[in-house]
Amino acid sequence: MTRDLLNKIVEKTEHEIEPYIDLIRDRSLANQVRVLRSFRELNVSDFCFNGSTGYGYGDVSRDTLDNLYALIFGAESAIVRTQFVSGTHAIFKTVFSVLRPGDELVFSTGTPYDTLKRAFSQLGEWDIHYKEVPLSRGLPNLEEIRRSLSPKTKAVMIQRSRGYQDRHSLSIKEIGEIIDAVKGYRSEIICIVDNCYGEFVEEKEPPQVGADLTVGSLIKNPGGGIAPAGGYVAGKKDLIEEAAESLTAPGLGTSIGASLADVRTLYQGLFLAPHIVNEALKGAIFAAGLYSNLGFEVSPHYSEKRSDIVQAVKMGTPERLKEFCRYIQNQSPVDSMAVPEPSFLPGYADPVIMAAGTFVQGSSIELSADAPLRPPYWVYLQGGLTYEYTKIILTEVTHQLIEGGSIAYPSNLL
Ligand SMILES: *Cc1c(COP(=O)(O)O)cnc(C)c1O
Repeated sequence: MTRDLLNKIVEKTEHEIEPYIDLIRDRSLANQVRVLRSFRELNVSDFCFNGSTGYGYGDVSRDTLDNLYALIFGAESAIVRTQFVSGTHAIFKTVFSVLRPGDELVFSTGTPYDTLKRAFSQLGEWDIHYKEVPLSRGLPNLEEIRRSLSPKTKAVMIQRSRGYQDRHSLSIKEIGEIIDAVKGYRSEIICIVDNCYGEFVEEKEPPQVGADLTVGSLIKNPGGGIAPAGGYVAGKKDLIEEAAESLTAPGLGTSIGASLADVRTLYQGLFLAPHIVNEALKGAIFAAGLYSNLGFEVSPHYSEKRSDIVQAVKMGTPERLKEFCRYIQNQSPVDSMAVPEPSFLPGYADPVIMAAGTFVQGSSIELSADAPLRPPYWVYLQGGLTYEYTKIILTEVTHQLIEGGSIAYPSNLL
């Protein structure tokens, strides 16, 4: 009986979200065109999938992939490396590559997401000054950003996605406005964008609105769900060389670092990324529609413009949050028998619960749900390789929450 009602709500949701799904289809098509063209322009061949070993001198697989990212992201140069162990690692190495003792780093979009915040807490030991500019009603405060700059400011960081915060993702246009404000003060200040979860959501990427360095994770959007690990940095040629030296060693730079055997997955993942991101966005819009129909506060709303793939739903209580994550896990294709428990993870201030029944460990372009255990208990959903499985899993999870009494049907739907 409740299942019938739930199916009706799902049907109504799909009907309501249809126009918004239509709106994102063109973007996905434009991104796929750009990616396909770039593959052809650089003559990608199966020879590029061989990888290399050891030092990786003259590694065509690596060099072509670097050029491909640069071309697709509209940057002069790029490095794409499985030797970046995570997004945080790629960001930290990049930020550190431009800073020297006595310099100042300004974080222009409130507080960084948890693991980076922890990493930045050590900047003082290197005599690097660090400032955060609070958001104003969830938006970047251009006035305050300008006021925070000083002759010592070497770099400004911009975080596109929301992290675990009550804010929206920044659009490419908003990122461009921050960069313009900073460059208007002094054009040498290096603008670094944390692009995690943002790739291929819009038709442009941060380098195309003036970002000097743009960084992201391969187990999110640009890995297309099949890259096994890694990160990328795209940007100005001289700065990319410095970022590469920060990863390896001065003098070694971009010309070393073997692309190991499964380099094909990095190419194929990138090729699939525009489509996979579109699937994830459709899933996010569905989640927003379903849960707002069930009376939950969601962010963003299904009709809102998005610049990342994250969907937040306010669970309200720690119990419901934990149950939601557990049900997501046990509906997943991999590790469905696992029971996620909140726990302290390296770099996080509050206990975090994470559901990720994924083929690539911790991948959040595959359907994943996670949250720090803090009021008002938002859960953050991201990814979903196919719209179908996101719909199936979310419907089943919701059914279980209703059966268990954690969710009641809003009276207007009964
Ligand atoms: C996921 C994410 C990162 C990278 O996180 P890792 O878990 O270290 O890969 C960076 N910034 C934001 C905003 C993110 O959401």
